[in-house]
Amino acid sequence: MQPASRMNQIPPYLFLELDKLVAKQRQLGRDVISLGIGDPDRPTIPAALDTLKEAVNNPDTHRYPNYLGSEAFRESVSHWYHERFGVDLEPRSEVLALIGSKEGIAHLIWAMAGPGDVVLVPDPCYPVYYTQSILAGAEPYSLPLTQENQFLPDLKAIPEDVWKRAKMLWLNYPNNPTGAVATREFYQEAIDFCRKYDVLLCSDGAYLDIGFDGYRAPSVLELPGAKDIAMEFYSLSKPFNMTGWRIAAAVGNPQAIGLLGTMKSNLDSGPFTAIQDAARATLDSHPVPFIQSMNALYQERRDLAVQALHNMGIAISKPQSTFYLWFRAPFGMTSQEATNYFVQFADVVITPGEAYGKQGAGWLRISLTIDTPRLEEGLERMARALRHHPPA
Ligand SMILES: *Cc1c(COP(=O)(O)O)cnc(C)c1O
Repeated sequence: MQPASRMNQIPPYLFLELDKLVAKQRQLGRDVISLGIGDPDRPTIPAALDTLKEAVNNPDTHRYPNYLGSEAFRESVSHWYHERFGVDLEPRSEVLALIGSKEGIAHLIWAMAGPGDVVLVPDPCYPVYYTQSILAGAEPYSLPLTQENQFLPDLKAIPEDVWKRAKMLWLNYPNNPTGAVATREFYQEAIDFCRKYDVLLCSDGAYLDIGFDGYRAPSVLELPGAKDIAMEFYSLSKPFNMTGWRIAAAVGNPQAIGLLGTMKSNLDSGPFTAIQDAARATLDSHPVPFIQSMNALYQERRDLAVQALHNMGIAISKPQSTFYLWFRAPFGMTSQEATNYFVQFADVVITPGEAYGKQGAGWLRISLTIDTPRLEEGLERMARALRHHPPA
């Protein structure tokens, strides 16, 4: 069997060696703690559960959903954007339901970019922007996110001819994997560039509702005129502990929303109607107190993890958002050396920074979506390993 040649262009799977090591430790009967995956460990918001139970008993929800999402769901998203960000969205033309934002991100790339087109992609980043650009035959152009630049891309450094060939600019703040946040000034600069070169600004807002020490992230759509050139992905996965439900929305620029809708109507239907109903109940429930309680929990975990890393001699400042900590591998190890080391000597799984792009080399990411005592134990084991088995 010969797969399509495009399949050969997907970058190699970096976790292969790590997965083998983890399997080996587990075979030896070791209790391996994973700090690798960003997937909330706490129960889903109760409003969603109650509504889902009722909705599944209604056979009307069992039929094909509307391609674009129910009008009621799109209205709820519109109300929520007004309540949360002060942004007005026209539900029919500026909101689209998604089966999780991952599919929306992938399909928007297919709708916007192909051979000869450039897609501006941060490095490090959520890998889907990069791999789908390649699969679609477009050329991803890397925007390095460096510590010196607060992990914001230097848009002025992009050559004019690249801007002219670019179709989309991907931004993701609060940022996975670095935990960085964007200022309004930065968004304004991005909007100005995108308007000048007629590039669609795509904001991945997976972590918009995560914030610590009183920080609340802005939506790019809060900026005046943003809708002329920008759209945003809003996912219920991370703020409401609903990753498995697969429900999100694309909002903003009506032309981009329309294109994504056309793409989707040719390959899937909307999310299960009962899940849209549950998502609607979530957004209509004025869920800020739930969001705050989750943020308080992640903030507590962030603080204890940052302290533990400091005690190991690892320099890291406290991120204002996301449930990730991003830091350089200790003792000058490469990412892969460090992740292998911690599996072998601490039975702890950490994500190597390279999984998010070349700029991630030498960096590590740990996730705070694990029961607090397990997180503490994982960190203690890491500290013990560094004491008893100092890396060469
Ligand atoms: C988790 C995550 C997503 C995927 O969210 P879903 O809505 O569950 O598909 C998208 N972007 C980033 C940056 C993420 O971390």
